[in-house]
Amino acid sequence: MTEAALEEFNDAKFRRKRKNGTYEVIEAPDLPSFIADTHAHLHMLDDPAFSIARAACCDVRFIEQIVDICEDDLAVFDNIAKWTRQAAVKIPSMTTVMYCCKPAPRVPKFRFAVGCHPHNAKDFDAAAEARLLEVLHDTRVSAVGEIGLDYHYDLSPREVQREVFRRQIRIAKQAGLPVVLHLREAHDDGFAILSEEGFPEAGTLLHCYNLGPDELQRWIDAGCYVAFGGPVTFKKADEVREAAKITPLDRLLTETDAPYMTPEPMRGMKCGSEHVVFTAAKLVEVLCEDDPFAASSMLGQVYENALRLLDREPTPWQREV
Ligand SMILES: [Zn+2]
Ligand SMILES: [Zn+2]
Repeated sequence: MTEAALEEFNDAKFRRKRKNGTYEVIEAPDLPSFIADTHAHLHMLDDPAFSIARAACCDVRFIEQIVDICEDDLAVFDNIAKWTRQAAVKIPSMTTVMYCCKPAPRVPKFRFAVGCHPHNAKDFDAAAEARLLEVLHDTRVSAVGEIGLDYHYDLSPREVQREVFRRQIRIAKQAGLPVVLHLREAHDDGFAILSEEGFPEAGTLLHCYNLGPDELQRWIDAGCYVAFGGPVTFKKADEVREAAKITPLDRLLTETDAPYMTPEPMRGMKCGSEHVVFTAAKLVEVLCEDDPFAASSMLGQVYENALRLLDREPTPWQREV
């Protein structure tokens, strides 16, 4: 089931496919704040413009697009701009809501994180590093990532992953940019390397956090931002929800990791940035016990956190020619 097939409906409703092939409409949470998706690979969707338009209709106003320096075509920068223009054209025909008491949908602002994913560490040679340094000078880039260690798939030798992670932490610090971390079954080594290198002053974002509060504590103590995505909504993920509860409000973030990690109740469908609203709604349920005033203040803060960390001014290094 692709999101392109959903386009036949040409609206912003969420639909989940039933076993008999028909669709059931899933009510979208009505959230009292703009929402940010701090981690998306939208170029992997069949129809990114449609997803961007749907995200706009859900009040998603900021998206950090991830670009892999070894794997992705750098045309993604221009393509995001093109898809955003196409989304703006689609929006008016996609919603029938009268926007008298809330702002009309607007396409989200995009910034970019660029780095070498640990899967591709084996390909991060001198040429890739030079390419990364050049791309980071683009002032649309606001972070180095996703970088880190993935010992689950081990698609690159662990020794190489650690070395490439180290090199990219140094690059981020040189550039004055935050890092977006991908760590899977490798939190001890990841924490040790960051402690040795020093956590970047511009910030460290632990992406797609899917473990419990015990692991999280040292990252919080080190000053990291923590982004929660689909896993915080999964039925068996009480540990992850406990982790959200100990995350300081001024370092809490929402994300999707689209096209992966679709949140409940949409699991089984391909994930787009619009699905971040279900993750945000779960955080409201867990952290605010559905108190509407608390929800508004919490989500407002989470959105501001994303802008503060990722919609940053160009660094002095980026302005160097
Ligand atoms: Zn990741
Ligand atoms: Zn990712």
